Parts: sequence; structure tokens; C-alpha cells
Amino acid sequence: LIGGIQLDPELNGSARLSLLILKMLFLGDAAVPERGMGSISQQLLRKVGENNVLLNAPVEKIEGKKIFTSEGGSFSPSNLIIATESPAAAKLFGNEIPPSKSVSCVYFSAPEAPTRSRAILLNGENRGPGLNVAIMTNVSSSYSSTNDALIAVAIPGRLVCDSTEPVVKQMKKWFGDMVDDWKHLKTFSIEHGQPALRPKDSFRKEIKISDGVFMCGDHRDTPSIQGAMVSGRRTAELCLKQQI
Ligand SMILES: Cc1cc2nc3c(=O)[nH]c(=O)nc-3n(C[C@H](O)[C@H](O)[C@H](O)COP(=O)(O)OP(=O)(O)OC[C@H]3O[C@@H](n4cnc5c(N)ncnc54)[C@H](O)[C@@H]3O)c2cc1C
Repeated sequence: LIGGIQLDPELNGSARLSLLILKMLFLGDAAVPERGMGSISQQLLRKVGENNVLLNAPVEKIEGKKIFTSEGGSFSPSNLIIATESPAAAKLFGNEIPPSKSVSCVYFSAPEAPTRSRAILLNGENRGPGLNVAIMTNVSSSYSSTNDALIAVAIPGRLVCDSTEPVVKQMKKWFGDMVDDWKHLKTFSIEHGQPALRPKDSFRKEIKISDGVFMCGDHRDTPSIQGAMVSGRRTAELCLKQQI
């Protein structure tokens, strides 16, 4: 479980982070938004207001507090908060790209779910490629637009092979011939799945870059949605405090 959450099947990562993750799992329930992960940004968008957000305009350059977008626009806000993932933030400041943990995810649809369980199914065989499996439609039916089940197989690291054959073979070992009816939907091989937090790295990194320039995201706290949200709150609080 920890190897899957920290994208670290060999468990070489931070033990402190493992303990924090276990603590959070004991304190609360694991959850996904009912209508998909995009609901988190939709919720933020509703609070900020659609007219105050410029979409599809990647920032290409930052000079002091001035930002330049790829479409030629420029803005000089009173406070600038950079909330990109860590490699993108490093690129914008010309810094060395920090290490990332990669992850791959193979999605299948199936006429029938292999189990009704809403739990994350863990690989107990120490043989991959999949480390854990989630039947997303068992958690929320809105993860499928039909009656088919949506099955996600998570694999730490980049999937080197183009073919889904090794994954299908593994799933057949787990669930038998019913896997013949599964349909491969899509494979994602994600270079930056989360920042690599090394054992001695601090959980709380500096969020103030210079006067009026701040940086938040999971790389400022712990590599997770929770870490991203904590760093967002820390940044907003500091920003407001400095305006008073
Ligand atoms: C497959 C997968 C599964 C995961 N599962 C979990 C999980 O179960 N639980 C969990 O807690 N975490 C999970 N994570 C990690 C989690 O997604 C991240 O920790 C979290 O999204 C980090 O949030 P963030 O706001 O810091 O950055 P992001 O969510 O990466 O947002 C950064 C944003 O900045 C934008 N951006 C980048 N460059 C620019 C630019 N130049 N100009 C403008 N915008 C830019 C990007 O497009 C992006 O929208 C998972 C990650 C992956 C890939």
C-alpha cells in the first residue's frame, strides 16, 4: 500500500512520510470525488469565479512579479503565486529540475466488475507490473457513462512496454478468464507523478520566493493532494498577512 502511495515499490523513500500517510488513513476515510478528480479544481473555480481565471495560457516567463503567457499576454499582479508542479516551477526560474516519481495507469472497462469491493486491491505476489488495482465504479457509479465497470491498474514508474499484454496476463492470474471480456481504454505513462521526497527532506519548504512572489504545490509540503492543499493554505495565509 505504502509502495503504491509513495510510488516507491522498493520502499526506499521517507519513513516519516509513510507514518504520516498511515496516520491520515487511520484518522479519516480514503476518498475520491464522486464525479472525478476534476471536481476539485471545479470547486475552486466556483469560489474564484470563472471570469477571474484565464485557461489554456501557459506562463512562459517570469520577470520579478511580471508574467508572460505563451499567447503573448503579460500581467503584473500585486502578488504572484506560482502553483505549478515542481519541474515546471524550476523551469520558470531556470533552476535545476528536481527529481520526480513516475507512474503509469492502465484503464479497462469490463461488462462485469471482478469484485464488488471498494478497497484498493494490493499485489501480494511481489511480481508486477501492476502494484494495485481499483474498481472505480464500485466507489462511484459516475466513473462510467455506461453500466460497464471502470478498472484502474496502477504501476509505479514509466511503463516501458507499449503493449498491455503483461498487465492483462497479470489480471488473468488475479481474476481468471473474465478478463478476456475487458476492453483496454487507455494507458497513461506519467513522467512527473509526484515530487520525490527524500528521507531527510523537510515536510515544510519555503513558500516565499521574494517580495510578493510565492510558490505553492505538493513540492512545498508533502507529495499528495493533501500536501498541495496545505501549501495552498499556508501561501494564502502568508500572502494575506503581508498585505495587512
Ligand atoms: C496517476 C496519479 C495518481 C495519484 N493519486 C493520488 C492519490 O490517490 N492521492 C493523492 O493525494 N495524490 C495523488 N497523486 C498526486 C497528486 O495528483 C499531486 O500530488 C497533486 O495533484 C499536486 O497538486 P498541485 O496543485 O501541487 O499540482 P498539480 O495538480 O500538478 O497542478 C499544477 C498545475 O500547474 C499547471 N502548469 C504547469 N506549468 C504551467 C505553466 N507554465 N503555466 C501555467 N500553468 C502551468 C499544470 O497544467 C497543472 O494544472 C496522484 C498523481 C498521479 C499522477
